[in-house]
Amino acid sequence: MNTTQDKASILLIYTGGTIGMTENPETGVLESFNFQHLAENVPELKKLGHHVETIQFEPPMDSSAMGPDSWMKIVRIISDNYSKFDGFVVLHGTDTMSYTASALSFMLENLSKPVILTGSQLPIGMLRTDGKENLITAIEIAAAKENGIPIVPEVCVFFENELMRGNRTCKANADNFNAFRSYNYPSLAKAGIHIKYDQSQIYRPISRKPLKPHYLLDRNIAILKLFPGISPQVVESILNIPGIKGVVMETFGSGNAPMDEWFLSMLKDAVDRGIVIVNVTQCRAGSVEMHRYETGHKLLEIGVVSGYDSTTESAVTKLMFLFGHGLTPDEVKEHMNCSLIGEITLPAALR
Ligand code: ASP
Repeated sequence: MNTTQDKASILLIYTGGTIGMTENPETGVLESFNFQHLAENVPELKKLGHHVETIQFEPPMDSSAMGPDSWMKIVRIISDNYSKFDGFVVLHGTDTMSYTASALSFMLENLSKPVILTGSQLPIGMLRTDGKENLITAIEIAAAKENGIPIVPEVCVFFENELMRGNRTCKANADNFNAFRSYNYPSLAKAGIHIKYDQSQIYRPISRKPLKPHYLLDRNIAILKLFPGISPQVVESILNIPGIKGVVMETFGSGNAPMDEWFLSMLKDAVDRGIVIVNVTQCRAGSVEMHRYETGHKLLEIGVVSGYDSTTESAVTKLMFLFGHGLTPDEVKEHMNCSLIGEITLPAALR
């Protein structure tokens, strides 16, 4: 194995979020940092020896305001610059980073270069910031090659020493530096003194097709989170939103839901109208197994699709992506039962 850290060209895409803030020395107010002056503000970058260019969203966005339009903007930037750079680092607010990472994983078909999302809990201009370390290691990962081939040709989230497959992550902590988790898929790398890659977990593109960027997303998706005592009015109103095409239903445990007659008949009616209902669990770890209990089985009979061990973030963006490409409900269901880019673990019988 010949792992190299030769001089690489990295494109840093600053979209916004806490990482890009610095404290105004005169007023003490947090202001957006000018990433065009990155080298001045993060002198450590020079020691890495890579060529880093920056593109910045104008104005930088809080990630709670991001969505399909900003995902398309990131995809456009990556696609327009794909041949010029060895890897891409996307600096992003932490709040919706997992949604963006999931969406990008579907939108960047045939990706063969690293796209590493990172951010920070404390602004980069603050003394105790986690931003510098996250930024520097993300650049190192985006630049890393083995025998001339990028080690991690995936959309990933790097946060607090851990490299995770982006479409497996969720923001799990609003305060701690280790804010992200990938409960259902192992880390792709751990950064300590050295960055240790787990090659067996990293996605390897089978063919060498050119990057195919996608820009079509359908927003007619909703999340229905079940809770004990949920009323017919709530369920009915979600399933009858005009134009709704897909619903991610967050169920209990291994995919269970109430068995009330009204509930099942509302779901059945929605499925019969062509709405794709995907069953994901409210548990952070583990998978939906609709054959396991009678309740899950009933949902399967009605035509609800299993989301397996998908995160809600991944299921929502996958539905947006599939419906965005004009697939019929049956085709969408079929694709929800396949792993497009490592976002779900299918039971052995379906692999
Ligand atoms: N509200 C910020 C954002 O997501 C928080 C952060 O960057 O961590 O943009």
